[in-house]
Amino acid sequence: MIVVMTPLASEGQVATVVERLAEGGTTVLRLDAPRVTLSAGGVTVRGVQDMPGVAAVLPDGTATPLVDAAAAFRAGRPDESPAGERGERGIQVGEHVIGAGSLFCAAGPCSVEDAETMDRVAAAVAAAGAVALRAGAYKPRSSPYSFQGMGEEGLAIARAAADAHGLLLVSEVLDATQIPIAARYVDVLQVGSRNMFNTVLLRELGRSWRPILLKRGLAATIDEWLSAAEYVVSAGNPRVILCERGIRTFETATRNTLDLGAIPVLRERSRLPVLVDPSHAAGRRAYVPSLAAAAVAAGADGLLIEAHVAPDRAISDAAQTITTDTLHAVLRRAALLRRALA
Ligand code: PEP
Ligand code: MN
Repeated sequence: MIVVMTPLASEGQVATVVERLAEGGTTVLRLDAPRVTLSAGGVTVRGVQDMPGVAAVLPDGTATPLVDAAAAFRAGRPDESPAGERGERGIQVGEHVIGAGSLFCAAGPCSVEDAETMDRVAAAVAAAGAVALRAGAYKPRSSPYSFQGMGEEGLAIARAAADAHGLLLVSEVLDATQIPIAARYVDVLQVGSRNMFNTVLLRELGRSWRPILLKRGLAATIDEWLSAAEYVVSAGNPRVILCERGIRTFETATRNTLDLGAIPVLRERSRLPVLVDPSHAAGRRAYVPSLAAAAVAAGADGLLIEAHVAPDRAISDAAQTITTDTLHAVLRRAALLRRALA
C-alpha cells in the first residue's frame, strides 16, 4: 500500500502514520519528493485514509505513485492543501505555466547551427507566437557520421538568441555529464526518445531543479513512459512535462505514428502536462500542420515543433522542419481551435 501525505502534513503526523503502517511488522519505505510518500510493501492497513495528514491511499500495485499521486490527491482532500500546491496540472517555467490553460509552444531548428541563423529563427519564432525556442546542441543522431551538435558553444548561441527575443529555451541532454553545463543555459532540459529508458540519466535529472521535458521512447508503452517520469520525480524533481512524439509501428508513410490516444489516457492517469511533437511523428513537413491541429483538438497542453527560416538548409531533420511562416499559421489555427472547443 502507498500513502501520500498532504504538503501540510507535520513530521509528527508522518511519524504516526509510519508507526501505524509498521504495526503489522512491515518495512515502510519513505520517499520525500514531491511530498512525503510511504510505501508499506504489499500490506494493506485499514483506516489509514482517515488519519490526519493523509492525502490519499493508493491501491497496491500502483507503479507510479508520485506521478499519479497528485491526481489521487486532487480527488482526495483538496481543502487541506495551500494554494498552488493542490496538485493541479501546471509547471512554472519563467513566467509561463505549462499545463495551466494557455497553449505552450517551443519551436526552432532541430540543431543549433550558427549565431546569425539562430537569431533570425528566434525572431521569427517569437513573432509567430511561440513561448520558447527549441534547439539541440547535443544531438542523438542515428549515424555516428552525422552532425553531432555544437555542444556548449551551441547552448550559448541559443541562449543569446532566446534572450534577445524574450523566449524560454528548451534543449536536450544526452548524458549526466551534460546536465550541469546545459542547466546554466536552458530553462527546460529535454530527454530524447532514445534516452527515455536511461534510468541513470533520469535519476540524475531528478537532482536538478530545472523542468524536464520527457519524450516518449520510440517503442515505449504509456506505462513505461510514466515509470520513466516516476524515476525523475522519485529522485527529487517533480517538474516533469511529457511529450508524445510518435511511436514505431508497421506504418512507414510517416516517420512515426503519432499516438493521440495517449493524451486522454495521460489526462486520466497523471497530473503531468502533455505536449505533442508533430515534427518527429510526421517526418515530412507537409504533415506537420494537420498533426499539430489534431493534437490541440485532443487537448494537448502545448506543441514542440521544428521550424526554421530556411528549412531546406537545416543541418538536421530538414524534411520535417516547417518554415516560420507555416509555424505562424499553425499557431493561429491552434488558437482558433481552442476557442471553438472551449
Ligand atoms: C529532437 O527533438 O530533435 C529529437 C532528437 O527528438 P526525438 O528524441 O523525439 O527523436
Ligand atoms: Mn530533430
